[in-house]
Amino acid sequence: MYIVQIASECAPVCKVGGLGDVVYGLTRELEIRGHTVEIILPKYDCMRYDHIWGLHEAYNNLSVPWYGAAISCNVYCGWVYGRLCFFIDPQSPDIFFNRGCYYGCNDDNIRFAFFSKAALEFLHRTNKRPDVIHCHDWQTGLLPVMLYEMYKYHGMEYQRVCYTIHNFKHQGIAGAEILQATGLNRPEYYFEYDRLRDNFNPFALNFMKGGIVYSNYVTTVSPNHAWEAHYTEVGCGLGHTIHQHEHKFSGVLNGIDYDVWNPSVDRYLPYHYEADDMTGKEYNKKALRERLMLAHGKKPLICYIGRLDDQKGVHLVHHAIYYALNRGAQFVLLGSATEKSINDRFWHEKNFLNDNPDCHLEIGFNEELSHLIYAGADMIVVPSNYEPCGLTQMIGLKYGTVPIVRGVGGLVNTVFDRDYDKTKPTKERNGYVFYQTDDQALESAMDRAIGLYQVYPKEFQKLRQQGMEYDYSWNHPGTDYLGIYEHIRHK
Ligand code: ADP
Repeated sequence: MYIVQIASECAPVCKVGGLGDVVYGLTRELEIRGHTVEIILPKYDCMRYDHIWGLHEAYNNLSVPWYGAAISCNVYCGWVYGRLCFFIDPQSPDIFFNRGCYYGCNDDNIRFAFFSKAALEFLHRTNKRPDVIHCHDWQTGLLPVMLYEMYKYHGMEYQRVCYTIHNFKHQGIAGAEILQATGLNRPEYYFEYDRLRDNFNPFALNFMKGGIVYSNYVTTVSPNHAWEAHYTEVGCGLGHTIHQHEHKFSGVLNGIDYDVWNPSVDRYLPYHYEADDMTGKEYNKKALRERLMLAHGKKPLICYIGRLDDQKGVHLVHHAIYYALNRGAQFVLLGSATEKSINDRFWHEKNFLNDNPDCHLEIGFNEELSHLIYAGADMIVVPSNYEPCGLTQMIGLKYGTVPIVRGVGGLVNTVFDRDYDKTKPTKERNGYVFYQTDDQALESAMDRAIGLYQVYPKEFQKLRQQGMEYDYSWNHPGTDYLGIYEHIRHK
């Protein structure tokens, strides 16, 4: 099959969170199975160009219709660890992707609507006719709309779209000007509730809703989150739309790329280890403590890795630090915040705890350090308010770092409480789960984990090993996505 992925992120060149990991990891899995896959991305100025091999101009003067005129784009091509990527570089005074950031501009909806249009125009002009276009999140929500309403009439009638929603919170809300810009004229048609009109703001269009309505199949990133999005407030107003399209909606759990996230081959680790010989993990813990100037000794080391965002339950992350310290454990945090108040709050904590030999807060994005933390820590907390899938708990499991998670979204599908889970036999349980969002709930789970580590170290070791035996690679999700592609492709 010939598949084209169109997204705003791809690890490790342009990655903000899990979306980037998924685009890279799924592509790799599909290629291993013999399919042809290409990725189309914006050419951001702030990408990690050192991860692109052989970057060169593949197409120049791609003229993309925009606001009744056109913007000329150059399209570059290069390989990201073997994955063939095309990067769209618009030559416009609006410098859509040369802003020193991926997201967070006032005109993000215009920037990514343009990207979606340019990606389609590129496929159209270069006569690329994939069986399936797989697009991701709100940034590409308008793509299936334009494919179905415009490009279908220009020789792209057989292309099918699979649309994956990684986060319902950001949906891409815009006014009628977006129709003018993209050439989707006829506002009265697109402002129908059955099409793009936002379910709550009658004057706005919703990109993600367009993606759901117009795609041939829609997925979100875990079965439990699919249920939550359909039936609870987690769908952020799109529950009704999902209900109308439920016949083509399901949850597929994300995978982890075990070539990258694997303690027995990880190129960022000073010591490698496997489930049946964990000495390397002890050495990594020592190396991590040395690097972060933490005290050595017998204390368990608990970590948090992830964005510092309301979604991630920052109030509980904050509480976890102090509870761990009070309970005789060490704590390492690696996270970055886009919101100023959260950023200020964690910088304040960092300064306050600066001289504490049991705690280190690293504020910023650091891929390499994240690997050492996963390997060196004993436990990882993931106290999210909501979590569509969550990769950090799955990576933690692979590294023998026991997850302590809140039972929401994909965390429910991946972590099974050692003491209370009823769905798995004891020897298949792999972590600790709590449900409420208050401090006590988190404390009770952390307390059980720290207690096991301190009082029954052999049992704790067993729990680590049980977690390491889980297969959260792309193996199963790869099969699931191929099943979906087969189901929707034009026959
Ligand atoms: P989300 O997509 O909501 O950000 P996920 O758990 O799905 O969360 O994915 C997070 C990914 O980003 C993981 O690979 C994690 O290791 C990585 N990550 C998050 N924050 C940082 C950071 N500050 N430094 C390095 N890697 C990070």
